[in-house]
Amino acid sequence: MPTVLIVEDEIKLRELVRSYLERDGLTVLTAGTGADGLHLFAAAKPDLIILDLGLPDISGEAVAAEIRRGSSVPIVMLTARVEEADRIRGLELGADDYVTKPFSPRELVLRVLAVLRRGAGQDDQQPTHGYGGGRLVIDEATRNVTVDGGQRELTPTEWRILLALATRPGRVYSRAELINRARGHEFEGYERSVDSHIKNLRRKIEADPAQPEIVLTVLGGGYRLGLSRDG
Ligand code: CA
Repeated sequence: MPTVLIVEDEIKLRELVRSYLERDGLTVLTAGTGADGLHLFAAAKPDLIILDLGLPDISGEAVAAEIRRGSSVPIVMLTARVEEADRIRGLELGADDYVTKPFSPRELVLRVLAVLRRGAGQDDQQPTHGYGGGRLVIDEATRNVTVDGGQRELTPTEWRILLALATRPGRVYSRAELINRARGHEFEGYERSVDSHIKNLRRKIEADPAQPEIVLTVLGGGYRLGLSRDG
């Protein structure tokens, strides 16, 4: 059973979310501060983290940044803030989904289950594909991505975006198409968040993120894979 770590200082909200997740059979760990969250994360290696942005000690952004230094564990962020800039900043830190307070616990659970499903890689019948003469190798069964022989750790959202682009190399995918593929549901006004994930993805897979060769921006909107499929 997947383990979910909730980092949230509001006890009532934390326990409410816990009860909903446990009802769906998930194992739940909780922390009320960023420091406790980081300790529990290191000790228990949860499969997903629900992270409140407004914590009493260190900010949720700082917690996410610390986690992202060594892990691609899925992160779902909770926030009371509604400013676009805050959302984008969270997504730049590598959050896989976002829920704005107040939210329905059921909706949050559905998002968590969707992120866990995407992370589990349902496509295990698919073979390994090479692109650009072996520069990029995508193994759908194990979710392994290697670039120039080196393995790259992608978040579930980055993985889904790359997989979508690689489905038909050269085809242009709009932001709306990519966000849909990556998240499985529509996000009003979230098309810009694709840019954040692309930026993070490029940092991981491009030799020079400023001169991308794998994930190309298409003038007039959208992205395409810059390598052709081998074989
Ligand atoms: Ca809070």
